[in-house]
Amino acid sequence: MTEVTSAASDGQRAPRVPAISFEFFPPKTEEMERSLWETIKRLAPLSPSFVSVTYGAGGSTRERTHSTIARIRKETDLLPAAHLTCVGAARGEIDEIVDRYHEVGVRHIVALRGDPATGLGTLYAAHPDGYQTSAELVAGIRKRHPDIEVSVSAYPEKHPESATIDADIDTLQAKVDAGASRAITQVFFDNDLYFRYLDRVRARGIDIPIVPGIMPMHNFKQARAFVTRAGTSVPDWLAAKFEGLDDDAETRKLVAATVAAGQVQKLAKHGVDTFHFYTMNRADLVFAISHLLGIRPHCAQKAA
Ligand code: FAD
Repeated sequence: MTEVTSAASDGQRAPRVPAISFEFFPPKTEEMERSLWETIKRLAPLSPSFVSVTYGAGGSTRERTHSTIARIRKETDLLPAAHLTCVGAARGEIDEIVDRYHEVGVRHIVALRGDPATGLGTLYAAHPDGYQTSAELVAGIRKRHPDIEVSVSAYPEKHPESATIDADIDTLQAKVDAGASRAITQVFFDNDLYFRYLDRVRARGIDIPIVPGIMPMHNFKQARAFVTRAGTSVPDWLAAKFEGLDDDAETRKLVAATVAAGQVQKLAKHGVDTFHFYTMNRADLVFAISHLLGIRPHCAQKAA
């Protein structure tokens, strides 16, 4: 990958430019595919460390993840990371998916347990012949292909199914012991939650990067409903910033960019130097926020 250039050009020591990565979801229609590729082409010159593509356990979603990843591999210089869950598949099937990724040159997997196939909030039941936990999946991937780097999830506000934050950190520890080398957090809006979580994780001797997952909220109402189900709290001060803007998409966008930019700049000020953006397959806000972090486009892209 080509280097990111810094915004500082006044002859003084340049501030360190953070490393960034982007998450996309696999498109369902041709129009969504076109729009995703416009987004990728806009964001690629920012030289992310990697770009990840989410995974759904259903057969067609699985295939869409694979084809998106394969196309990124083929048409760009970006390093793709394929998300993979344990849901609804026997070990053999999961192993085959991992082998297929390895064959096309993918060397990074984001390994997850996944949500219950019966829907969020229902009891999770592992496939009888499947990987029983995310840690087992991590170990399975690393054993099969030691050259595949594995990232996992982390939950600054704890996972909704977890009894306590310490139990949650036990799971993180198991994933690290199994070979995970990076954790990406669930979205959060209160930076103190992240720093408190980081303190607890470090106190347990876990030293892998815990990369904050940042979600610029293009549509506050929708995003709030979505993240709340996943256990993320939405502070009142944040809701207040979007009050009265339900029918004003343009102002909402400006507010969303300001809020997310404020969040990452405060994290950066406190020494955070790596960010993972939940792009929702849109480039505009993420591009602007990256710009404010000092990241400038560089011709990193193979495909026009
Ligand atoms: P784990 O880390 O294994 O567990 C999370 C917590 O739940 C742990 O504290 C653990 O103790 C507790 N727990 C786990 N199993 C049980 C159990 N049986 N009983 C009680 N407690 C339990 N989902 C997708 O479907 N596709 C994706 O591509 C995807 N990408 C994601 C990327 C990131 C960065 C994050 C943060 C989440 C992502 N998710 C994705 C969502 C994720 O699948 C869900 O949050 C899921 O419920 C947990 O998976 P996990 O690997 O995070 O769980």
